[in-house]
Amino acid sequence: MSYAKEPRKIALVGIGKIARDQHVPALAASPDWDLAATVSRKGGVEGIEAHEDFDAFLEARPDIEVVSLCLPPQPRFDYAKKALLARRHVMLEKPPGQTLAEMHELERLAAKQGVTLYASWHSRMAAGVAAARSRLVERVVQGVCITWKEDVRKWHPGQDWVFAPGGMGVMDPGINALSILTEILPEPVHLVAADLEFPENRDTPIAARLEFSGHVSAVFDWRQEGPQTWDIEIETNKGPLALREGGARLEVDGAEQELLDHPGEYPSLYARMAELVGRGESDVDLAPMIHVADAMTLGRRVTVAPFEF
Ligand code: NAP
Repeated sequence: MSYAKEPRKIALVGIGKIARDQHVPALAASPDWDLAATVSRKGGVEGIEAHEDFDAFLEARPDIEVVSLCLPPQPRFDYAKKALLARRHVMLEKPPGQTLAEMHELERLAAKQGVTLYASWHSRMAAGVAAARSRLVERVVQGVCITWKEDVRKWHPGQDWVFAPGGMGVMDPGINALSILTEILPEPVHLVAADLEFPENRDTPIAARLEFSGHVSAVFDWRQEGPQTWDIEIETNKGPLALREGGARLEVDGAEQELLDHPGEYPSLYARMAELVGRGESDVDLAPMIHVADAMTLGRRVTVAPFEF
């Protein structure tokens, strides 16, 4: 559904891997949005007005009322705060920030400034997630087993920020699984224990095992080569459910479910952002980030082999 009569101008900030892979194509195909500018120190998008400095952009283009921040989490707070102070609506890539306190400050500021803040969770928009959620409403969940194993060299080639403080390490993909978990479970769970494997030369974990209340467990590993695994398997009183391929596929009682035609994760995020701006609302759900913060607080640190890209 399109919420804007005319496409709204939007600027993309931080033109790197995810901006090129997902945001630019999603905006190009959207009836709601007009990609009017980019802000990036080195990157740009062919044919689109390019700025290098965010302050100069905010000053020069007051007509662009919406910014989408595709930066890594470490610099994101400063950009988001400047944008909100300049009364721009702000969409945040996941994870929305480095810390919960940063996010509380941005929420407060957005409300004070009367603008939209959207902490997006792309995996929640995967094709099977809404269907899984509605199936689980009719069942009692007895346990959940999450397996999220991927190759960091493929998905974050040379991106040292993922291993720097605030980069979250394997929690960067793991939080996608947690964003689905917190979306589909009828009752909330909380973390009770974690093992975090830190390469001896890095500041964030490369693998993690998490245990939650309610017989929910998760294994995240960034060292998986070959086929990648993004599965959430759920035992219920009426038989099993499984979300596979990051939520793109749903099995109920072992049978593959036919899913409704789906626009894709990032087109769905931008449709949601258009809806929020149109209604003058914000959407900031920090539940996935709370689990990550708890894992960092409760987790037992295990040192493993050094990692180089
Ligand atoms: P990236 O390519 O390393 O970074 C995006 C761009 O941000 C960079 O090209 C850089 O552009 C700018 N940037 C980097 N560090 C900066 C700094 N300190 N200050 C200002 N600008 C900086 O990262 P990415 O893979 O696109 O990931 C960005 C976000 O998207 C992360 O939160 C990630 O979790 C999320 N995400 C990534 C993927 C994926 O597959 N990689 C998938 C889904 C979501 P300039 O040098 O031109 O300024």
